[in-house]
Amino acid sequence: MTQRTSPISLASTLTCPHCGAETTEAMPTDACLFFWSCPACHATVRPKPGDCCVFCSWGTVPCPPIQSARTSQSSQPESAQPGCCAR
Ligand SMILES: [Zn+2]
Repeated sequence: MTQRTSPISLASTLTCPHCGAETTEAMPTDACLFFWSCPACHATVRPKPGDCCVFCSWGTVPCPPIQSARTSQSSQPESAQPGCCAR
C-alpha cells in the first residue's frame, strides 16, 4: 500500500557504543534526539562531535532533516550539511 511518496524513514536502529545492543527507535520529524538512554546497559548515549543527534551518529538511518537535505542535495558532501540543530 502506498501511503506517501516521501522516501524518508522514521525508524532507525541505534547501536549502543557502550554495549553494542541494537535498538530500533522511532524518530520525531520535528525534533532531534541528542541524548538517548540505552535500554540494555542504561548508558546515556550522545552524538559524536559534529553530529546533530544520536541517529546521525549511531543509527542505521540519520534523522529526518538530514535525510531530506540529502535527498534534495545528494551531490553535497556530508561535511557541508548543516546540522538540523545548528541554530
Ligand atoms: Zn548499551
